[in-house]
Amino acid sequence: MHAKSGIEILPISIPMPDNRVMTIHPTLLWDENSLVLVDTGMPGMLPSIAEQIAKAGFAVDRLSAVVLTHQDIDHIGSLPQIAGAHAVEVYAHAADKPYIEGELPLIKFTPDQRAGLLQSLPPQTAEQFERYYAPGAKIVSHALQDGDTLPFGGGVTVIHTPGHTPGHISLYHTASQTLIAGDAMVMRQGQLQGPNPPVTPDMDEAIRSLAKLAAFDIRKVVCYHGGVFEDGPNRTIAQLAASGPKQD
Ligand SMILES: [Zn+2]
Repeated sequence: MHAKSGIEILPISIPMPDNRVMTIHPTLLWDENSLVLVDTGMPGMLPSIAEQIAKAGFAVDRLSAVVLTHQDIDHIGSLPQIAGAHAVEVYAHAADKPYIEGELPLIKFTPDQRAGLLQSLPPQTAEQFERYYAPGAKIVSHALQDGDTLPFGGGVTVIHTPGHTPGHISLYHTASQTLIAGDAMVMRQGQLQGPNPPVTPDMDEAIRSLAKLAAFDIRKVVCYHGGVFEDGPNRTIAQLAASGPKQD
């Protein structure tokens, strides 16, 4: 029997100002009715995202929704471009919604950083970004809560995993037993680790969030930064939750 729904990981490489290359891992949830992108990369990345969607065998025109795991710029960056080209519904946790919609300042993106980024973008992309993320904009069409279920990809459960941001969520894709971790964990040198301390304002809460994942039978973890971990994730996540913040 052919699968009628599923999940695809879309690895995308971003050249960084210091000549390193950062690879991020947005995810695609697909079924007969919807094609849903989880996280959108930095501003101006729609062409790379569209290329990866096509490579996965889907028409980018089918994009019907975007789920944002949280408010950070490398997750919300290309949403203006995507929403400008495709009719997408936007899902995010209620606690990060006011930041995404400009009611509150993004917690890790200062006005100086914003100005610097906008200057580095092609003028049209910068304008589109500013217009879209204008204060008071109605962006999030569906405010999510812990335990919500969404039909995407055959069904995912929303897990509120605050700490990295107040409204950070992870998604559990039931059919493949895959956890879309967002930035609740990272992969480094083949190792699954807790969230990156310098960009996680509340590490204690972030570690408590990992303990919540024990309720799920996880076969595969997709970290936005670092990619896939399949070597007994439940055991490793339990250890991370028990051991507390790791310094390195
Ligand atoms: Zn983040």
